[in-house]
Order: sequence, then C-alpha cells, then structure tokens
Amino acid sequence: MSAPAPATGENTNSAAPAVNRPVRALLWRGPGAPLEIEPILLPALGPREVRVHVRAAGVCHSDLSMVNGTLAPPYPLVLGHEAAGVVTAAGPEATVAVGTHVVLNWAPPCRRCWFCGNGQPWLCETAGVPTAARGATADGEPLHVTLGLGALAEEVVVGDHAVIPVPAELPFETAALLGCAVLTGVGAVHRTAGVRPGESALVIGLGGVGLSTVMAARAAGADPLIAVDVTDAKRDLALSAGATHFLVSGDDLSSQVRALTERRGADHSFECVGRSATIRAAWRATRRGGQVTVVGMGAKDDMVSLAALDIFHSARTLRSSVYGNSDPDRDVPDLAHQVLAGDLDPAALITDRITLDESPEAFARMSRGEGARSVILLP
Ligand SMILES: [Zn+2]
Ligand SMILES: [Zn+2]
Repeated sequence: MSAPAPATGENTNSAAPAVNRPVRALLWRGPGAPLEIEPILLPALGPREVRVHVRAAGVCHSDLSMVNGTLAPPYPLVLGHEAAGVVTAAGPEATVAVGTHVVLNWAPPCRRCWFCGNGQPWLCETAGVPTAARGATADGEPLHVTLGLGALAEEVVVGDHAVIPVPAELPFETAALLGCAVLTGVGAVHRTAGVRPGESALVIGLGGVGLSTVMAARAAGADPLIAVDVTDAKRDLALSAGATHFLVSGDDLSSQVRALTERRGADHSFECVGRSATIRAAWRATRRGGQVTVVGMGAKDDMVSLAALDIFHSARTLRSSVYGNSDPDRDVPDLAHQVLAGDLDPAALITDRITLDESPEAFARMSRGEGARSVILLP
C-alpha cells in the first residue's frame, strides 16, 4: 500500500517562479461576511512542492460546513478541496513532473506514522487537517486553506504527495469529483460497508457524496436501494443514479423502509449528511444486526443519543467512513480507469457548470438543498 505515486515521464521540473503573482480565489473573511473572489498570494514553492493550475473544482458540502457555522475554521479562509488540474511548476525534489494531470488529495498520507504502517492511510496522523495556514491575502494577511488545499482558486501550491497523477484523457470535471465525492461514496460502499449483491441499502442525503454512494451501491448490486432527501427535488437524480426507491425524509422513514425490506429494515444505511437527527434516522431504519455507516461530517456539539438497551438489542454496527476508508494514491487511479472504461460516470452528478466568479451562488444553491454537484471550470 505504500508505493509512492509513480513519476510521470522525465523530470523536467522547473524552479519556482521568481515573482509570486497573485491568483484569484474564493475567500471567506469570517462569520457574516459574504464569499468573494479575491486575489491571493500563494506560498513560495518548496523543494517537494508543486504548483497546480486548477482546471475544475467541485463545491462540496464540507466547504459549506466551513462557512455556515457547522465548523469553526480560522479565517481568512480559501475554500475548496475537490479539484483537478495540471502541474505547472515543481520543486527540485518533487516526484511529479510539470505537465502531469493530477487530482488533488485533501488527506495525503505521510506513509510513516503508525496508521499508515497499519494499512489505514485515511487515518494518517498528519492528513486531513481541516485548515492549514498557507499563503497570504493581497495585502499580506496570512491565509488559511481548506483541508490543506484551498482549491477554489486559479492555482494552488501543495506538497507533491497531495497530488495524484491521472491519465490526461480524463476530463478535468470528472477528475475533480474523484478527489472527494466519488472516492468517498465508492469507498463507503465497497471498503467500509462491503455491500454484497442483493443486500438492501438506504442512503440519506443526496448531495454529491450521497449520489455517489447511490451509484456505488447500485454497482455493488444493492436491492432494494432506497434514497432519501428532505424534498422531492432530488427524486429524478436519485433514480437516475440507480436508486430503486425514493423517499422524502420524515418521522415515518423507519416504517417506510421496513415496508420495502420485508419488515426488517435495511441491511446497510449510509448517512451522508452529518447530523444527529439523520444518524438516528439511519440507525432506526437499519435491521437488527445491520450496519450504519456515517459518511457526513457533522458538528462537534451535535450529540447523537442512543438508548443503551437499543445498542445491545439491535446488534447494529455504527461506524464512520473517513475519505471512503481509501488509499487515494491507489484508488483514485483505479477510479480513473473505471471512468475511461465506461464503468463509472461521475459526470452524471454534475448539475451546474459555472465560472469561479459564479461560485458564491453554488454555496447558496447548496444551502437551499438544490442540485447535486456544482463544478467550477477554469480556463
Ligand atoms: Zn468534500
Ligand atoms: Zn501517516
């Protein structure tokens, strides 16, 4: 599992540009402030770092959680962590060559800590820091970047271990989605839960990750495959992603799911929201001995309450799936090949293709629960 990312071609790495010209990025200046596109200064290129020209970036629910009060990140903060692009400069010791098409990895494993050595790189001690200090605003104020990336920007500077080479023929918009929504959804189904053909599955919350989870559960042979969201608006998206049934969430969700699963409840439930109410709903709709997988990232003060007797009697398993329990260096190239072979179609998740200037509106749409993935396309 610890094979380094393959070097792509001859190392023609250039030195860092002498002048650090500003690039445009989506910035959040704190609670109550609007999201705005501003010029920022990237950090100088380190010896093992690369500069990436971002060509496509998705707006993920975790970005919204940074600014809507769910999380409390430091600011000013550059948003974005799901993106793909081309390496335009590389430090002298970087293992990825200029010109390589790459997917950004928001949880790059160190390959040295106990968890990496134990075959669980998604739990790496150094990976997945919610925000990191990198770069500066145009007037010199230190900046934070989402999940070590700050990918809703024209360019980023990241460690060479935070980029994953992918074939150049993979469309950028598809490649971007592999870096968060698809890796998370596919990994939750295959690596965390291990859904088998004919098992029933419930997916609650149909954003990009939830719909990816539906797609992956369909591919795994889940039947029935019940998709749930707060309004009827996601019905068509859910059914086209492969759901056999669509339900609007409500107090009777558990009985509706039981009606579709021979009164037992689902073998597998995937909670793709990150809220105590939906975790409890997933728990109640799962059969005795079934598995509840929490995929959504919730708030630290949102407590989930379960009765001690219920935990014992239901014999359910409740666990989380972090980045799909995946090794991105192994699994993203694998997903890329599935896309190129026609076995996986993440582009079906994209409901809006927009410019960087239009990206604040994507956050507004997401907070209203509209659409699946908005992808920012950059020239
Ligand atoms: Zn994400
Ligand atoms: Zn590690």
